[in-house]
Amino acid sequence: MIKRRKTKTVKVGSVKIGSSVPVVIQSMTKVPTVDVARCVKQIRKLANAGCRLVRIAVPTRADTAAFARLVERVSVPLIADVHFNARRAIEAIEAGAAKVRLNPGNIRKRADILRIIDAAKMHETAVRIGVNEASIRDLKGQDIPIHKRIALMLKEITRYVRLFESRNFSRLVLSAKSSDVLRTIEINRLIAEGFDYPIHVGLTHAGLPEDACVPSAAALGVLLAEGIGDTIRISVAGDPVAEAEIAKQILIALGLYERSRPELIVCPTCARAQIDVTKLARRVKKALRGIDKPLRVAVMGCVVNGPGEAADADLAICTATTKAYIYRKGRRISTVPENKIIGALLNELRNM
Ligand code: SF4
Repeated sequence: MIKRRKTKTVKVGSVKIGSSVPVVIQSMTKVPTVDVARCVKQIRKLANAGCRLVRIAVPTRADTAAFARLVERVSVPLIADVHFNARRAIEAIEAGAAKVRLNPGNIRKRADILRIIDAAKMHETAVRIGVNEASIRDLKGQDIPIHKRIALMLKEITRYVRLFESRNFSRLVLSAKSSDVLRTIEINRLIAEGFDYPIHVGLTHAGLPEDACVPSAAALGVLLAEGIGDTIRISVAGDPVAEAEIAKQILIALGLYERSRPELIVCPTCARAQIDVTKLARRVKKALRGIDKPLRVAVMGCVVNGPGEAADADLAICTATTKAYIYRKGRRISTVPENKIIGALLNELRNM
């Protein structure tokens, strides 16, 4: 079992973030913020997919005005994503943001930051200090070498944190993102060592969903297994619901999220398989779609290793030539012809 790194607990509207509560999944809307109807629809879809917080970009005054309308229409706490413009942060705070994300790489004037701190304090708004490798790489007017970027990210976060602390503000969440797996791990370990604020983890600009899964799981898997990470966002191009699904899968794999639907285990197949196991597994997966039970179902390609490998499953199908043996918790309960496998499986599932 993973031992979480001990952090402060930060309230973001009705949602808590920190080691005292489970890791929170979040994502971002990807439709224009001013299109309130589409935004509301996407926020609700994300909430249904498991997001407990949703972030929204507010680059213009019209966006913060739309943000205020969104706050009134959805129950999930909303985070305003602010870059470059301190005024937008204050508008979002006044509009009811549960949290604002500030980027130390592009809001740099001390007076601006202090004004945001005072507004966030007055409205009890949380703040994420979220530095990105891409936004600090040119800070000194030239490209900063890769080996110096980690130190600079940490320096930028520390500068912000000290300013917030000087105003007795502690509703902070910290993050540092890179599109590089090893740098993401390294910078987050340093933040975890240096501060006890909750950490938002993510690999930025990870790519299309099919390309983003592996690097995101590699970076966040290492961090989360070390207890680092209190809220998670997977960055992928396209439908944000995919972000929530990948986040959930990573957390489930690490035992940090309770599965509510069946898990399908399929043997990799080898020369011993006597029927098309992959095709059968796809049919089983489809049949499991309507089942809302956290069951473990296995599809195995033969009876040589199948029963042993499926012993941990609630239900297992071990195939042979033209037939299959059905096992329930490791005990064989029936033998069915190939064309009745799915029906027999569904029958068993209904009784579990
Ligand atoms: S269960 Fe049978 S078919 Fe599948 S990989 Fe193992 S030995 Fe091969």
